[in-house]
Amino acid sequence: MSWRKSLKGRISLNEPLSKHTAFKIGGPAEFFIEPEGPGDIKTLLRISKKKRLPFFIIGAGSNLLVSDKGIKGMVVRLSAPYFRKLSRENESVYAASGIMLNKLLAFAKERGLSGAEFLAGIPGTVGGALAMNAGVTRPAARSIGDLVKEVKVMDREGNIKALKKKDIKFGYRESSLSEYLILSSVLILKKQDKRKIEEKMRSYLERRKSTQELMKPSAGCIFKNPRSGSAGRLIDLCGMKGKRAGGAQVSRKHANFILNSGRAKAKDVLKLMDSIIEKVEAEFNIHLEPEIKIWR
Ligand SMILES: Cc1cc2nc3c(=O)[nH]c(=O)nc-3n(C[C@H](O)[C@H](O)[C@H](O)COP(=O)(O)OP(=O)(O)OC[C@H]3O[C@@H](n4cnc5c(N)ncnc54)[C@H](O)[C@@H]3O)c2cc1C
Repeated sequence: MSWRKSLKGRISLNEPLSKHTAFKIGGPAEFFIEPEGPGDIKTLLRISKKKRLPFFIIGAGSNLLVSDKGIKGMVVRLSAPYFRKLSRENESVYAASGIMLNKLLAFAKERGLSGAEFLAGIPGTVGGALAMNAGVTRPAARSIGDLVKEVKVMDREGNIKALKKKDIKFGYRESSLSEYLILSSVLILKKQDKRKIEEKMRSYLERRKSTQELMKPSAGCIFKNPRSGSAGRLIDLCGMKGKRAGGAQVSRKHANFILNSGRAKAKDVLKLMDSIIEKVEAEFNIHLEPEIKIWR
């Protein structure tokens, strides 16, 4: 454990990951580390290789299901001030990867910069949103990748690179950035009247409130929509709304949400996911793919 002394950031041992996931599920991380800056991350990557400690990066944990047994190795969260910087130059916004999306949106609105309103109400950090290419499918498909000019990343060897948009592949709830540690981004927005921005944000938030169950812990949509349409609709047609496994329950409002309705374990969620996959496959011959990331 002498390597801890070479770090400037914070480190906790056996930190319950249920405290760091939107699902409120997950066993302890052997090492939960909040590096001070890129120098610390480089050190951690070197140590993780040398000591064969698995290395995970967590944002706000809003798209994660973490094993009840927890995680052996390092779980790294970019929450130090270095990773929470926001600034603007004309219509470009610099957003470090640890900043929360709601902070980014408030910053843009205050400066009359439009384009990111569709992200309103999506929990998570800028880094997590870029890794997942977070966005909406209605009323029109928009995702954070549409706004990107450039992203600064670190590879697993500790080299820092600035990737232009043309060097990055953004797909439906995935991006080629997830192979890197995302450090910061430059997003392109457009000048607009503050009130118009506010109106757009409100309308996205209202749509979200009317369609999603937000009062109980969840990880948002569990499955990706298949090519043929909505995963939630298929799950609903299988009569799965309200179905339970232990403390996990399929939302009655949005069938693609699984809720932690009290003391749910990761194994409950996985059991429910398996029975949904089986039912949808048997009924429609469609195989649902998880949208959430599962750390076992
Ligand atoms: C109620 C609710 C509603 C939601 N609605 C939506 C929605 O409408 N649209 C949508 O797209 N998503 C939605 N989500 C899912 C989630 O909010 C997004 O995927 C979000 O972008 C995840 O960000 P995060 O910081 O929480 O990432 P995490 O959940 O912490 O991590 C997700 C993945 O990103 C990786 N990652 C995180 N940070 C970095 C980094 N700096 N560098 C490299 N990899 C990184 C992690 O390793 C992991 O693989 C919803 C979730 C909830 C709980």
